[in-house]
Amino acid sequence: MSEIQLAGFEGRPVRINTGLFINNQFQPATGDAQLEVENPTTGARLASVSAAQREDVDKAVAAAQAAFKGSWRAVSPAGRGRLLNKLADLIERDADDLASLEALDAGIVFGDSKALNIPQSTETLRYFAGWADKLSGKLLSIPQGYAFTRREPLGVCAAVVPWNAPLMITIWKLAPAIAAGNTIIIKTPELSPLYAQKLAALVVEAGFPAGVINILCGLGQVAGQALAEHHGVKKIAFTGSGPVGREIMKAAASSNLKKVTLELGGKGASIVFPDADLDNALFWTATGITANNGQVCAAGSRIYVHAKIYDAFLLAFAERLAGSAPGDPLASGTTKGPVICARQREKIQAYIQYAKEAGIRQVAGDSTVPADGHFVANAAFADVPDDARIMREEIFGPVASIAKFQTEAEVIEKANATEYGLSAAVFTNDVNRAQRVSEALESGQVTVNCWGLLHANTPFGGVKQSGFGRDMGEEALEGWLTTKTVKYFTLPTADGK
Ligand code: NAD
Repeated sequence: MSEIQLAGFEGRPVRINTGLFINNQFQPATGDAQLEVENPTTGARLASVSAAQREDVDKAVAAAQAAFKGSWRAVSPAGRGRLLNKLADLIERDADDLASLEALDAGIVFGDSKALNIPQSTETLRYFAGWADKLSGKLLSIPQGYAFTRREPLGVCAAVVPWNAPLMITIWKLAPAIAAGNTIIIKTPELSPLYAQKLAALVVEAGFPAGVINILCGLGQVAGQALAEHHGVKKIAFTGSGPVGREIMKAAASSNLKKVTLELGGKGASIVFPDADLDNALFWTATGITANNGQVCAAGSRIYVHAKIYDAFLLAFAERLAGSAPGDPLASGTTKGPVICARQREKIQAYIQYAKEAGIRQVAGDSTVPADGHFVANAAFADVPDDARIMREEIFGPVASIAKFQTEAEVIEKANATEYGLSAAVFTNDVNRAQRVSEALESGQVTVNCWGLLHANTPFGGVKQSGFGRDMGEEALEGWLTTKTVKYFTLPTADGK
């Protein structure tokens, strides 16, 4: 554990502490366990950070329990809102540092992090800050009396976060958890933990009492598993892959039946009808598969295009995919960074290779990307059969699978023929069609004439095997609260009068 300095945007120094953050203090992990963090742009080692062990998880839970019973109780609901707003102000102030860190260890383009991930995080903090003093129950009448409900915090909660948009997804959990009055332990992704080492310093500066927000980097199977199994943790919110989501549910079931919410993978469909504004549809469908190199749970990785415009669409789509500027995500002018690690690059390339070997028509790809680091060229395949692996499985890379359709009924059936149900996009100028199709799609979110837009006040989450529970929007609060019913029975007067 130590203070280190990294070179951020335009070479400006970014300082972080690499320790575990428990009780508002940075501290070494048990046995001084560390894990190495790599820069995906170069493949070189970037930093070592403390790696939480089971004993460290116990310490963090004890700190969060003490805060929940003590200092945190003394903070009023409006006070919780003020702290969240203050944290938003500090994130805005240090946006360059946070975006630099996301570029350095997650390969996210600096400008994208600053223009999208960071404002999304601060909007979410401010949205839930507003909710902190508005969590009211209901008054209900019952025979001979009345009842009311109280919406109460759950206690010590945990969040396990993936590497693809780490700050934003952390805030999706932290903001409603804190607004609801819980204390929290965040298990950051081992591949991109540096943003949170900076966030921890801002938590102290914002004035949160010790133990309210604890941040641990560590391996999923060690620190993440320990949180999922912990009897002191009352809720775990997870964003990540389906197999790990299932492990978390099992651990919750076999420990204390803690509340679980899961935000899992996706295989989003983008549907382009012939009456759509073609330029707009091209912009959003290309963005839907190239944003963050397709390492987006809501990625529009299946694109269904009506037969009437199919050929024109393919040509223009391929041009757009070829137009990216790959390079160092910290450099201005770069529009495409590396993918997260060598394993992810190999996984994506294996899907591309599979498609080529299966004889699926490639319409984009093979453009030049830097040889160092973990870069993958954008790729698109056309006439992809329904049962092809690239049409069914989540690739989490910049690989689009495109197919032609003739009728609305046919495309709805194709779009719904997946185990996932996170996000889908419809492109049409016909309001009736937009209404019919968005109603028929089995998806937690449907966007019309755009793709993937996130707003703090609109719920986001999946159906089917994309999970359950919601981030953002009023609905997210349900995941961090429990309802207590209090009943009053009115006694008659003692003398019966
Ligand atoms: P992952 O499941 O491998 O890891 C996610 C987190 O879980 C990491 O912090 C990891 O350390 C931890 N983890 C791993 N094993 C664990 C265990 N046994 N117990 C507890 N925690 C454990 O996922 P990833 O590769 O980091 O992220 C990519 C996946 O995340 C994709 O499937 C993507 O679709 C999904 N994702 C979903 C959303 C959403 O909102 N639905 C958003 C982003 C990413």
